[in-house]
Amino acid sequence: MPSAPFLFSIDLEDIRQLIPDGNRLSDRVEVTTERYLRFLSDHGSRCTFFTTGDVARRYPMLVKQIDQEGHEVACHSDDHTPLDRHDPESLREDLLRCFEAYAQAGVGEVKGFRAPIGSMTGDTRWAYDVLRELGFRYSASVLAAASPLYGWPEFGPDHPRREGGLWEFPVSLASLLGMRVPFMGGVYFRVLPFPLVRWLFRARLARELPVVAYFHPYDVDVEQERFMYPEIGGNRFYNWLMYRNRDQVLPRLDRLMRLGARIVPFADHVEELECRAAGV
Ligand SMILES: [Zn+2]
Repeated sequence: MPSAPFLFSIDLEDIRQLIPDGNRLSDRVEVTTERYLRFLSDHGSRCTFFTTGDVARRYPMLVKQIDQEGHEVACHSDDHTPLDRHDPESLREDLLRCFEAYAQAGVGEVKGFRAPIGSMTGDTRWAYDVLRELGFRYSASVLAAASPLYGWPEFGPDHPRREGGLWEFPVSLASLLGMRVPFMGGVYFRVLPFPLVRWLFRARLARELPVVAYFHPYDVDVEQERFMYPEIGGNRFYNWLMYRNRDQVLPRLDRLMRLGARIVPFADHVEELECRAAGV
């Protein structure tokens, strides 16, 4: 059994808040989150839910349930504004609003942060100072590759490391057709051939490297209405991909779990890393 962890995580956000006129769409946050909770419970696993302050305010019972079931609630910003549209002061205010929302939902200390849309880059690394100041212990915010949206190719290898005084866990990448792609992230996981994903997953754990994965509520939503996704420039082919193989996500994850993968919340893995570093 591989000893490196499977850092499976959910970016718990409401897609309706991220598109114009989104409130005409049906509310899918709870029903889709329940699907992930059932999958995790079936596997006796706990993971990290990077939750927006917006979701914590509007679904406090759901966020409390996540916490009570032993999962980690971490921060995914208040309203999903990418870091390059913040300055240090506005980011600090955003994060304090999140803390307030988590506290209202009954969630205690929050240790981790994931920047919206992987927007931690060479230009926004000032954000680590704000995170450190507010007591965060880790971030999982970097796409260490070139990308049409945000990416930080100069970050170097996609391995966890200390950056700006925190642990940074970049999303796991694979080299495919000359590109570095996050094979365990939402749409990539759904669209790439599963035997390839499974091979990459197994190979990475065999190298004793953690697998950093991210999914969204909509990744398992087969009933959601069709609309144009934000941040893909109105491209119809990309939008078609956004709906591909959503029914395959949980069955594929089940098959990965049969390889002996061990899902661990990020905060627990940070503890393991720090104990190891301290020689405990
Ligand atoms: Zn997000």
